[in-house]
Amino acid sequence: MLGLWRKIRRTGRIAEPAPPAPGDRVEAAAGLGGSVQIRHVDAGSCNGCEVEIGSAFGPVHDAERYGARLVASPRHADALLVTGVVTRNMAEPLRRTFEAVPAPKLVVAVGDCARDCGVFAGAYGVVGPVSDVVPVDLEIAGCPPRPEAIVEGLRKLTGR
Ligand code: SF4
Repeated sequence: MLGLWRKIRRTGRIAEPAPPAPGDRVEAAAGLGGSVQIRHVDAGSCNGCEVEIGSAFGPVHDAERYGARLVASPRHADALLVTGVVTRNMAEPLRRTFEAVPAPKLVVAVGDCARDCGVFAGAYGVVGPVSDVVPVDLEIAGCPPRPEAIVEGLRKLTGR
């Protein structure tokens, strides 16, 4: 056990090197002081985007070091991170979650499904992309987006 602790101490923290700070920032996020609390909403995802979000907040990409933090309640959040197409069963919960976020509330559509329905466009259970249900401030493209792209998008909110 002691050997393991020594090894951890010797190795230190390993993460991707920080890329340069984003030049452009989502204007509505300017008053958030570099710290953005985020509530994730799966509106009908295949879970591919969730895997990449998990990686973006994992120890390698570590989105928290830029001030982005996942929280458990929309009432504690500044922004929503929405994945997937909006399905019929999730349209109203998404609307209510958006209503529960205190102003200024930001919405990030993560993945091609959230942006334009992606591969699920025209499916019978689909209401539409996220922007058909709540206003979207930032889109992150990809199916699924790479963790680097998710971190880059979140940094446009935090400005760090
Ligand atoms: S964008 Fe791709 S990975 Fe993300 S929910 Fe849609 S199909 Fe799944």
